[in-house]
Amino acid sequence: MKTLQQNDGVGTTTLKPLFGTSPDDLKLLVQTLGQSPYRATQLAEALYRHRLPSLDDITTFPIALRETLQAAYTVGLPEIVQSARSIDGTERYLIRMADGETVETVWMPDGDGGERGDGSEAAEEERNEPDLIAAEQGSPADQPLRYDSRPNPRPDTRNRGSLAANGYRRATICISSQVGCAVNCQFCLTAKLGIRRNLTAGEIAGQVAVALNRNNVKLGQDRINLVFMGMGEPFLNYDAFMDAVRLLRFMGIPESRMTVSTSGIEPSIRRFAQEPIRPKLALSLNASNDAVRESIMPITRKWNIQALLDAVNSIPLGKREYVTFEYVLLGGINDQPQHVQEVLDLLAGLKAKVNLIVWNPGPGIPYHQPSPEDVDRFHKSLIAGGIPTFIRRPRGRDIYAACGQLKRTVDETPVPAPAGPGALVQLSLAANPPA
Ligand code: SF4
Repeated sequence: MKTLQQNDGVGTTTLKPLFGTSPDDLKLLVQTLGQSPYRATQLAEALYRHRLPSLDDITTFPIALRETLQAAYTVGLPEIVQSARSIDGTERYLIRMADGETVETVWMPDGDGGERGDGSEAAEEERNEPDLIAAEQGSPADQPLRYDSRPNPRPDTRNRGSLAANGYRRATICISSQVGCAVNCQFCLTAKLGIRRNLTAGEIAGQVAVALNRNNVKLGQDRINLVFMGMGEPFLNYDAFMDAVRLLRFMGIPESRMTVSTSGIEPSIRRFAQEPIRPKLALSLNASNDAVRESIMPITRKWNIQALLDAVNSIPLGKREYVTFEYVLLGGINDQPQHVQEVLDLLAGLKAKVNLIVWNPGPGIPYHQPSPEDVDRFHKSLIAGGIPTFIRRPRGRDIYAACGQLKRTVDETPVPAPAGPGALVQLSLAANPPA
């Protein structure tokens, strides 16, 4: 548990963050304070259902109890310290943790039905909307305060909230799982940052809480998808990632609306296959053979493509579930006709679909974009080969060239201390040239 220092004029007190503590552990905490169990329910509701930023806001607690908690604890949500907004509505947030480390989180509202830009799976859900509504059991946010072991509790999609008021059908939040990344994919700007540390479950789920609060989202009314595709490799921070998944479900987002992307950490994929409750999986394939993959993703030396496909094959998929294979197209490297045929051979017999991502150039990265003709041919050839294939629509290209650029820009320009809680410093867009 990360801690905050509070100077009370007499000495320095260490405050522990409550956000990130599981509902079961909140029960124990309330017990140690000599309080009735229903106070734990109220505390969990305040933290996760209402996403209150301060203990002062928990008005269901008597003042004396709030003061007792404040002596040792804080809510401890991370804080948005910079933002950049695209003309397409996408917002990138730089989010600061208690120890001053920062990560990026991206908010992608989407009112045009183009789900393919954000990597989530909601397009399929919407095609099956009448089924889903008929099958609804009520929103997780309306269910009793406990971890729900039923697979995929359905959110209430019948009433629309603040997103609909702004003309959007849904929004997707892209979350980071580590500060930086150790995987060193050669086409990725985040890789240039190196790894600084893992995020805690509270810091991972906290990114979602502050993005929801900033956009006045009401879970149960607004449709939210999550993609674990930001900075870091979630499967190298597996336990915190899965704890965050459970917290996020508790907040009211079912795992059917979450997708996790991995560069291919074979032992973690096998653990993931055993999880009773898990998000959808996207494997970052990016190459059609080990030689090319090794050159752009050195981690292939540890687990080759076949080892990864075997691990993916061990996941028991639902009736409508596919594994997504992400494929970043790099001009002249992995986008030629022989690569298409190799991809078709690799994916033969798998319940697979492919998301093609046209690579975004980044400073100091020695690749070039594929030609539109090569992208088109690759796309059509995979479809002709029987693989459902989509081209991911670029989001917010006017505010970033690649994941990690916002943070990298800031690392080169120290972040000013915020003037007060929630204070925002708008990022100069000149620092983030269009891709
Ligand atoms: S693509 Fe993902 S796994 Fe690879 S270096 Fe970038 S953040 Fe890490």
